[in-house]
Amino acid sequence: MKNYSVIIIGGGPAGATVGQCLKEKNIDYLIIEKGGSYRDKVCAGGIPHGVIDLLPDNLKNFEKMEYDALSIDFGGKLSNTVKLNKPFLYGVERTKFDLHLRKGLNLHYNEKFIGFNNEKNNISVRTNKTTYTAKFLVGADGVGSRVSILSGLARKKRFILGEEKEVFQKNITEPSTVKLFLRYNYLGYGWLLPKQNHYSVGSGALQKYFLNSSKGTVEKFDKGKGETKIYPISLWGGEEPLANGQIALAGEAGNLVDPFTAAGIYPAMLSAKLLAAVIENALRNGKSDLQEYNKLLINELGEEFNCALLLSKMFYPLLPLIKNVIISKSTMQQAMESVSSGYISYKTFYMKVQRTKKIPVKIAYFLVQKFAS
Ligand SMILES: Cc1cc2nc3c(=O)[nH]c(=O)nc-3n(C[C@H](O)[C@H](O)[C@H](O)COP(=O)(O)OP(=O)(O)OC[C@H]3O[C@@H](n4cnc5c(N)ncnc54)[C@H](O)[C@@H]3O)c2cc1C
Repeated sequence: MKNYSVIIIGGGPAGATVGQCLKEKNIDYLIIEKGGSYRDKVCAGGIPHGVIDLLPDNLKNFEKMEYDALSIDFGGKLSNTVKLNKPFLYGVERTKFDLHLRKGLNLHYNEKFIGFNNEKNNISVRTNKTTYTAKFLVGADGVGSRVSILSGLARKKRFILGEEKEVFQKNITEPSTVKLFLRYNYLGYGWLLPKQNHYSVGSGALQKYFLNSSKGTVEKFDKGKGETKIYPISLWGGEEPLANGQIALAGEAGNLVDPFTAAGIYPAMLSAKLLAAVIENALRNGKSDLQEYNKLLINELGEEFNCALLLSKMFYPLLPLIKNVIISKSTMQQAMESVSSGYISYKTFYMKVQRTKKIPVKIAYFLVQKFAS
């Protein structure tokens, strides 16, 4: 039975980033990935600049689109576009980006994690091919995580469903403009992100509303030809432990997905980096416990996500009330500037909402405080 310090389940952004961080520290690890090297992940691929800080130096350069303009269309009735003099967001193609993140890693493709057993000092990890032992087990196996199910960690699941199609075109017009579509579905939004030879067009909404009324929303604002694929996203639903003893979850396996935008790549990579540091520390000090990770997550993501969740409860249901504030140049510009600094600061926005003098926002804030929190 082969023994490793760390076995990581899943080679997406979370698992690959844990792997890269452990590799940098010369810690022996193995990534088990059920898929092959070509990954066709349903995803819009919008990533904030903060992602670059999370990557080791040799991986900081990757193929990406740079977006400096944002256009919002509110149900075909109102719209606005704001352009900054610098990019505020990047766009990647997941097949290429995930392959980039996996560069040089000790990764077994086409091997599926089945289960684990706690042994005296180690964990034995079963796959469809063999059994390994490891000091620590990392679940980075994304939405529907088997490690989450078997370990009992990350129970606060809150699903949305997203639909996406890739519309191929010879000439990409407005290649640096991200388009958002509000009010085309209930409790969700639509997007159009230009890529090198296609547009990623999609929409998403909370599972219940997607199934009832939002499926096919994408056709309301973009009739371009492309196969529409539907995929779930497991949103953050509140603070809860993601580490217990020698097992921990990173990324979407632990529901670490922004509850306002449903973006999961940056939180996946940030949580991965935090977890790798905790693992390194534990190995250095002969500890068998990853509890420290829970505290780091609350500090680095929990507070931001709490504010993001409260803002989402105000933003999506009460859009008709606050639409003029949302589509104003100043709000759009503030949001873009905030994103361009690395990752949007929801805490700052939440404090602004609390202090606002704008009557519709005051009413929305009051309603959320009274009925939704
Ligand atoms: C329609 C849509 C649009 C999106 N758009 C964006 C966006 O623009 N920006 C953004 O930041 N996020 C976006 N997301 C979310 C983002 O795709 C995910 O949150 C992100 O991929 C999570 O990364 P991860 O590494 O945690 O999990 P994943 O990327 O899901 O990786 C998990 C890996 O684990 C492997 N795995 C699973 N089970 C097993 C097993 N039993 N054994 C071995 N391997 C296993 C999988 O094959 C996979 O490679 C979108 C999602 C959807 C559905």
